[in-house]
Amino acid sequence: MSRSPHYDILFEPVTIGPVTAKNRFYQVPHCNGGGYRDPSAVAQMRKVKAEGGWGVVFTEQVEMHHSSEITPYIELRLWDDADIPMLARMADAIHEYDALAGIELTYPGINGPNLYSRETPIAPTALPVRTFTNDPVQARAMTKSDIRQLRQWHRTALKRARTAGYDLVCLYGAHGFGVIQHFLSTVTNHRTDEYGGSLENRSRLMRELVEDAIETVGDRCAISLRLSLQELIGGLGFSNEELRDLVAMHADLPDLWDLAQGSWEECSATSRFEEESAQEALVTGVKSLTSKPVVGVGRFTSPDTMVRQVKSGVLDLIGCARPSIADPFLPKKIETGHIEDIRECIGCNICVSGDMTCSISRCTQNPTFMEEWRKGWHPERINQKQSDAKVLVVGAGPAGLEAARALGMRGYEVTLAEAAETLGGRVTAESKLPGLSAWGRVRDYREYQLSQMPTVNVYLQSELSARDILDFGFEHVAIATGAHWRRDGVSRHHVKPMQDDGSLPVFTPDDLMAGKLPQGKVLLFDDDHYYMGSVLAELLVANNCQVELVTPSAYVSEWSLNTLEQGVIHQRLAELGVSITLNRALQQIHNKRVTTICSYTGKPADAVVDAVVQVTSRQANDGLYSQLQSLSAEWKDCGVQSVGLIGDASAPAPIAWAVYEGHRYAQELDSQSPADTVPFRRELAALSLDII
Ligand code: ADP
Ligand code: SF4
Repeated sequence: MSRSPHYDILFEPVTIGPVTAKNRFYQVPHCNGGGYRDPSAVAQMRKVKAEGGWGVVFTEQVEMHHSSEITPYIELRLWDDADIPMLARMADAIHEYDALAGIELTYPGINGPNLYSRETPIAPTALPVRTFTNDPVQARAMTKSDIRQLRQWHRTALKRARTAGYDLVCLYGAHGFGVIQHFLSTVTNHRTDEYGGSLENRSRLMRELVEDAIETVGDRCAISLRLSLQELIGGLGFSNEELRDLVAMHADLPDLWDLAQGSWEECSATSRFEEESAQEALVTGVKSLTSKPVVGVGRFTSPDTMVRQVKSGVLDLIGCARPSIADPFLPKKIETGHIEDIRECIGCNICVSGDMTCSISRCTQNPTFMEEWRKGWHPERINQKQSDAKVLVVGAGPAGLEAARALGMRGYEVTLAEAAETLGGRVTAESKLPGLSAWGRVRDYREYQLSQMPTVNVYLQSELSARDILDFGFEHVAIATGAHWRRDGVSRHHVKPMQDDGSLPVFTPDDLMAGKLPQGKVLLFDDDHYYMGSVLAELLVANNCQVELVTPSAYVSEWSLNTLEQGVIHQRLAELGVSITLNRALQQIHNKRVTTICSYTGKPADAVVDAVVQVTSRQANDGLYSQLQSLSAEWKDCGVQSVGLIGDASAPAPIAWAVYEGHRYAQELDSQSPADTVPFRRELAALSLDII
């Protein structure tokens, strides 16, 4: 199949300084939780993107000098020559498919607490470091000699980047993470010398660094500047007007302007809070201020939106981080006319949580992300089946859908049985909640793929019993029957059912999703701590309830700190008039009253409400699996070889976990590694030969 000529414009080459990108698909730098700890895993992940057709593939942020680092977060490092091979492996991997390799050099400055290097942080002005964790560390103001040194460190790092094979070097001054932004912004730059005050002065270091870079490696490498479109903090900052003045002032300074949004939270907003192309108004018109190409982001997954960005002169290059994680083959699919096969990012930021938790990133839509090297998984290819066994998958939620899809790709004959009238399980239910419509893409992508597979049969309204399953006689059975929310308060605060005399109506998230809603004054107890409590509070407000959200945590939706949503969630609930009670737990329901207690002192308080919503924990629907286990003596006669339990039916977790388990089931159906071996490759730090 060939593409529609409408998309040809996306495949035009773009010259960036001394190099040329083969098309307009530009994978902007993005974290992955692996960084210097898992360099081969990161290299292989980037290689798969190059294979998927991205014209430019970037590293994540690379700390360019040991005097500024962001421990505990794990990115890449280019501190001395010893780091070059790790970076070279990535550049080589990217070059294998004719993509340009980009490296994002960062001097975190006031964003680096230096918990590992123990160096004193330096910044334009002496202020406390600005990190996610409010570390009790302050930065020292840079002297002129520090600035001279910083320029020298940049020149050295640039040479190392060139030696490692990079074609583009991005100097990072966005998201509050790079020293260039700290000089530009009046939040962090209060200097009175020639590096502070006017915009010309605040941009002096930026100009010097770019000029140094062009002089040092500009013969071979393109130099891009990554800046925030606006940064507004307490009336200070760097406004969008100033950004435009800055571009006009230094119009042709870098080879490329890379425009991101203010803070990382703003730039990587979730689909619950921002639509695709949310930055368009802030970026429109910047291109007319410079003769150099402009790249920008906006969680672009629609090829038509991309074409519009280029045709209307907003952007030259389509910058993508999350869309390239969800579908590394997005450009190839457009190029070959397979738009309907694009696995669209749902904008959930589970990928970000891998970085924020210093673990390794996952993707809700792409279960192979960061497993390309660790497990040898590939987003578009999978081993062919090893036998003619037939597989029954019971339950078509994220786990069952992905298991069936990946098994179908392997060529297995698959039957997918679903009790409900529609596919999708929890994603179908949750996608109807306020702000979560993009969740439905988890189902939509898989539903379409399954419809194209000749060996997969899908049966709706087919609730199966253990007897049915044994009578069918499939060789392999995967139970993916999901989970349901508990009504009894059990989670972290209550590990046993809480006291409840039944005097008040109690609702669960499942009730609300099924349209069964409370009325009047509602206490919503959130001991789940992710998105569900806050989303249901929104739903209740929309249904004219008076809502009090009570949580034992110090934060509303505490875990959403890891998806960069916590601040906007609190803001939205506060604006909607939800009363937010932190550090308290629902202790009991009695005599039409609720008793809550302080998480720290245990001090009780009673209140009168009309209803309670328990957003606490979920219980696996594993009854069918247990029944099959109890009938295991009959399996052999029925031809059943294995019965697996996957997804929420095994242990409830976010959607990404269920998709991963479904995929793993399909990958490992006929090739399970022995239980006592680590089921993925990893890299260990090389032991030093020096023993003191
Ligand atoms: P997961 O996230 O693990 O995929 P979900 O709760 O989203 O779990 O999906 C489970 C699906 O299994 C639901 O769509 C539910 O209707 C279906 N299901 C549960 N029990 C049965 C059964 N006995 N037969 C067929 N489908 C079932
Ligand atoms: Fe998109 Fe979510 Fe995947 Fe991140 S984890 S790339 S936001 S689908």
